[in-house]
Amino acid sequence: MIPPIASRFVAGETPAEALDHVRTLNERNVRAIVNLLGEHYDDRVPAEADAAEYRALVEDIAGSNLEACISVKPSQIGLDLGEDVFREILDEIVETAAENGVFVWIDMEDHTTTDATLDAYEDLAHEHYGGEGSDGTRSSSEQWSDGGVGVCIQANLKRTREDVERLADVPGKIRFVKGAYDEPAELAYKDKAEVNREYKELLAYAFENFDEAAGIGIGSHDPEMIDYAISLHEEHGREFEIQMLMGVREDAQHELAEEYEMWQYVPYGGRWKSYFYRRVMERKENLWFALRAITGR
Ligand code: FAD
Repeated sequence: MIPPIASRFVAGETPAEALDHVRTLNERNVRAIVNLLGEHYDDRVPAEADAAEYRALVEDIAGSNLEACISVKPSQIGLDLGEDVFREILDEIVETAAENGVFVWIDMEDHTTTDATLDAYEDLAHEHYGGEGSDGTRSSSEQWSDGGVGVCIQANLKRTREDVERLADVPGKIRFVKGAYDEPAELAYKDKAEVNREYKELLAYAFENFDEAAGIGIGSHDPEMIDYAISLHEEHGREFEIQMLMGVREDAQHELAEEYEMWQYVPYGGRWKSYFYRRVMERKENLWFALRAITGR
């Protein structure tokens, strides 16, 4: 069982606990991106086991009519064993998800995985695109209800501008994040101000140039980035969605959900310790928030 100190950031150990959390989110108009915790498997057995759990999860999501999708990590489903293993397992998950009308996000890991991850996204997005709506466009909710795929892209990587240009007409969704991995200085912006500038420029490019079928996700807790996305939405009239992690700025999530499409990234599973540790290390206040949650003060 997950101790109360970690349950602010992790929805539980089982799919049933994760879906219970999703249900409470949906009641507040917040949709869920469900992630089974796991990464860097150097053996096919755990990769296949997690893939089987994801396939069962998308069936449960579809069967319970929850507004939820899934997000998978490439190294969780075989990338450390080879690109062919990753593609084979990812294809199976996306196929089952498409049959069930559930959207699949592909998380982005460190720079050594970027090419393989983007290539997989591009191929699968074209393969699983459900076509246009009756008015010639599709909102991101419509994409969600038909299945589909999205990928995360990191503003801290210097290559990302070119990647975003390449992906501008791919019929899927891009989740823009600042980047969580400590990358070498020759490949990545290290200064926070530079990453923020890049993030904003990438958003401006996306709102101005993305094809209607290419959705935009704002994966950030940063009020400045969210306000900027809202101003771009008002200027260009393009739809977008906001995504934040479970346990982070939840009041803001509820408030934003009243006006915008809001998604919460909901991790669950037995491998919760390293995820919880990362949340605490990236922001020491998180430990304080978690302690307050259990002491009720
Ligand atoms: P930061 O730059 O960390 O902080 C900016 C401001 O945001 C702060 O000053 C504060 O005002 C506010 N803020 C930030 N955190 C908190 C907090 N805990 N509590 C209160 N206020 C806060 N990274 C990847 O590399 N690959 C992925 O696949 C990936 N997926 C993600 C999915 C989602 C839904 C999200 C939200 C993030 C994901 N990330 C991923 C992580 C991302 O790259 C950043 O490391 C992380 O989001 C921190 O950047 P930030 O934009 O949220 O804000």
